Amino acid sequence: MTKVGGDDEGRAEERSRCKWCRRVMPTQKTGRPREFCSQACRQWHWVGKQRAAELQLNEYELIITKDELDRLHDELYVLACAVNDAERDLSAAGAKPSVRELQEIVDWLLEAARPIRDRELTPPQ
Ligand SMILES: [Zn+2]
Repeated sequence: MTKVGGDDEGRAEERSRCKWCRRVMPTQKTGRPREFCSQACRQWHWVGKQRAAELQLNEYELIITKDELDRLHDELYVLACAVNDAERDLSAAGAKPSVRELQEIVDWLLEAARPIRDRELTPPQ
């Protein structure tokens, strides 16, 4: 189990995230704390553990396809470029950017960030 942070807040944060996709899960008032946000994530975690055992990987190692890694790098690159553009545009807009300027910057950032927000691995068959 990965330990994140040394204080109680860090541990609470760790507990409230999906063990596979790391998305923050809604707070639960009753029952055993959930480990996964979806059945697909539970399945991916199980398959990952099986493959890791077959390939003698430890719990911190993971093998993903080159195609999957390329897609992730592409999406991160698009997001990084949008952040650079936003920083440049904000700096060019001066001390009091107009609402329209800010709207354009936010729209551009959102467009670049959505693929990462919506990214999901296809569950194993
Ligand atoms: Zn998940």
